Amino acid sequence: KLIVKDLYKNFDGKDVLNHISFDVKPGEFLSVLGPSGCGKTTLLRILIGLEKQNSGEIILEGKEISNLSPEKRGMGIVFQNYALFPNMTVLGNVEYALKLHQETAGDAREIAKRTLDLIGMSDQLDKKPKQLSGGQQQRVAIARTLALNPNIILLDEPISALDVSMREVMKRELKDIQKKFQATMIFITHEQEEAFYLSDRIMIMSEGNIEQLDTPRNIYDHPANDYVRDFVVAHL
Ligand code: ATP
Repeated sequence: KLIVKDLYKNFDGKDVLNHISFDVKPGEFLSVLGPSGCGKTTLLRILIGLEKQNSGEIILEGKEISNLSPEKRGMGIVFQNYALFPNMTVLGNVEYALKLHQETAGDAREIAKRTLDLIGMSDQLDKKPKQLSGGQQQRVAIARTLALNPNIILLDEPISALDVSMREVMKRELKDIQKKFQATMIFITHEQEEAFYLSDRIMIMSEGNIEQLDTPRNIYDHPANDYVRDFVVAHL
């Protein structure tokens, strides 16, 4: 379980995260939804440790992790641009990540193969990223993160770089993957439709505040305030 308490971040005199608190349950798919500039990416970067908050606590599995480096936090991240190594094969990309995390060469290969198989990429192991479609590259990036068995996976608009038809496919696959691996995921998006389809709960943000954190159904049926009501209506 992840607990975020009173998280505050200020950039150059501007409050970007305004003392926000929330938690994420094991196995939950939580989307963070809000307009450009509301602080979604900053929140993600602080959670993973690429940015430091001014104040507030981040507690994962009972442990305060704010002072740990990104690789020690037990979180995985999938970036929008996938960040695959172009000169390594599909298998090589996943294996390399595992070796960086202290797996022996034999174990790394075994785990990489198993994860890529589960994600439907076992027939593409020897291809280089540029020989794959955007959706396939995305799958490799997700496999690479899943293989490390993190407590939480953070996804930064992972579908938005894909074309429209691929987005639909990946949206459904992401849901299947999450169920199959029982992964806890925090998904950043400005696409309401994706958030409503994928999420157990949605966090709606504006200007560094949480306007509502609830199930898609409750947000739709019982918007907490005018901001949420207008936001939901405007994006339907
Ligand atoms: P988008 O959907 O466009 O990615 P976002 O909701 O992810 O937007 P953030 O990228 O978190 O928003 O940015 C929130 C605010 O913080 C913006 O006003 C942005 O200009 C500011 N900001 C983000 N990173 C920095 C930085 N490194 N230095 C100064 N200001 C920053």
